[in-house]
Amino acid sequence: MEKVGFIGLGRMGRPMAANLCRKGFGVTGYDVTPEAVAAFEALQGRGASSVAEAVAGAGIVVTMLPNSAIVREVVAGPGGVFAHAARGALVMDMSTVDPTTTDELAAAAAARGLSFVDAPVGRLASHADAGQSLFMVGAADADFARVKPLLEAMGSTIHHCGPPGAGMRTKLVNNFLAVASCQMNAEALALAARLGLDLQTTLSVLYGTTAKNGQLEINWPSKSLAGDVSPGFTIDLAHKDLSLIVEAANAARLPMPIAAAAREAFSSARARGFGGQDFSAMLDAHCALVGLTPPRLPR
Ligand code: NAD
Repeated sequence: MEKVGFIGLGRMGRPMAANLCRKGFGVTGYDVTPEAVAAFEALQGRGASSVAEAVAGAGIVVTMLPNSAIVREVVAGPGGVFAHAARGALVMDMSTVDPTTTDELAAAAAARGLSFVDAPVGRLASHADAGQSLFMVGAADADFARVKPLLEAMGSTIHHCGPPGAGMRTKLVNNFLAVASCQMNAEALALAARLGLDLQTTLSVLYGTTAKNGQLEINWPSKSLAGDVSPGFTIDLAHKDLSLIVEAANAARLPMPIAAAAREAFSSARARGFGGQDFSAMLDAHCALVGLTPPRLPR
């Protein structure tokens, strides 16, 4: 089994790295927040106090970080992963970032004799906890074979979408629907509440027609509709993804009016202090805007 360096031990990275440990991989984890490293150590991981220490001796280095700027800095910046990785090592970025960042990192890796794979993650944080994530992989065939055992240890569904960059582009397509549907759900349930309808009955109807969607059916009943707005996936990160989507579409001269409107609805939620809450709390953000008490399922 290859030795793994894992950088970014937050809501997603911590359970993913812990699942690698559980399946027998030797994992050294680093996070800029010492509490995150301590939490990983409590899950039987080996903690590191720097990127250099996490990367030393690793055949594969995984990054699970918030955004493009941080991934660039940690992977390609001075004292970063590339600077410390052994020749022949493979770097797998599993964060959600701008695909042009992925393209540039893949090219920079190749120039240094390193391999680069993008493998962003689908489904919810609760799936990552359970080792049931879905992965969208951009990789050369040989690199895909090399990372497959790690992905099998962290998830249950793996799609090889194409060469480096294809995983990240697929992730943007996926997250447009997954994230924009939160705003549509919020508007639909606010309308139901304003019209005086029973929430449970309304949901039963929506789940039985083509109106249903994964957020409304899988995420919301145990999150905002149950009064739990802890992340999960923050509104801040969902806003970042919608921004990546709108920017990628603009660069491709592709209009996406609903993505643009959804991004601004998330901008409004952030400006009003909802950024740290789960993205299902777009319900609460929208209800606050229109003067409604957010609907909740009976306990
Ligand atoms: P998070 O904010 O919980 O975790 C990110 C971690 O990175 C934090 O622990 C932070 O301290 C660490 N970090 C920040 N800068 C660092 C640096 N310079 N060096 C080392 N560590 C650093 O975020 P998350 O929810 O785990 O998401 C991580 C990535 O995965 C994001 O790109 C997100 O869009 C994506 N994603 C999240 C989910 C989800 O449900 N949460 C699902 C799929 C994809």
